[in-house]
Amino acid sequence: MTEASPEATAEARRRAALDAIGAEVAACTRCRLHETRTRAVPGEGTAATEVMFVGEGPGFNEDRQGRPFVGQAGAYLEKLLESIGWARHEVFITNVVKCRPPDNRDPEPDEISACSEFLTRQIEALDPALIVTLGRFSMGRFNPGSKISQVHGTFRPAHTASGAPNSLAYFMYHPAAALRDGGVEAASRADMQGVPAALTRSRELRAAVAEAGSTAHVPETKPEFLTDNHEPTSDSDPTERLGLF
Ligand code: SF4
Repeated sequence: MTEASPEATAEARRRAALDAIGAEVAACTRCRLHETRTRAVPGEGTAATEVMFVGEGPGFNEDRQGRPFVGQAGAYLEKLLESIGWARHEVFITNVVKCRPPDNRDPEPDEISACSEFLTRQIEALDPALIVTLGRFSMGRFNPGSKISQVHGTFRPAHTASGAPNSLAYFMYHPAAALRDGGVEAASRADMQGVPAALTRSRELRAAVAEAGSTAHVPETKPEFLTDNHEPTSDSDPTERLGLF
């Protein structure tokens, strides 16, 4: 019998971990959102990916189908992915909260907190090089204290408390916001063009850390700007540098 390659074994391990998390999410009653959901939406995508997209929470269609980003916003996200030659099955897509807030209201802080561990474990399972945040609630986890209008189209190491010590985070508007506002839509199209370069940069940083045998995480740096779409502020980003860079 042929032995599975190390890559295939690692992917199978990641898949098993993601499926176990999904099963827990489906039965979860940790916060009030379970009372009004039709189906929980753990997330979906390949376990072999280097890229995770993280939105806010399920909407009407997602709640019915148990899948993330399947409505109009999902179709728009797929269009954005196509613009860089990617498809949704090549990435992993999930949300900050896994059950639909009633009437599509914003998730409450205690709901985000209750659900946080699931996202942490999904990140641990995948160890993504790049996390693309969609909207301000997702951005708030990976780059707290920033404003989406100022950091969209930029990336930086994910905040140390985000559960992603080895990932770069890239910030985008939520696709639903792009569907409502022409300016945001144009910005979103431009921002998506920066995603492949952000992934390349993360690979470089992770390779450098691995080569040095360092236990340091992807180092803290100023944001790097990829598009001319952002309006950066001069005082909102720490310059602390860790590890090699
Ligand atoms: S939103 Fe998260 S914590 Fe709340 S019930 Fe759903 S899976 Fe559980």
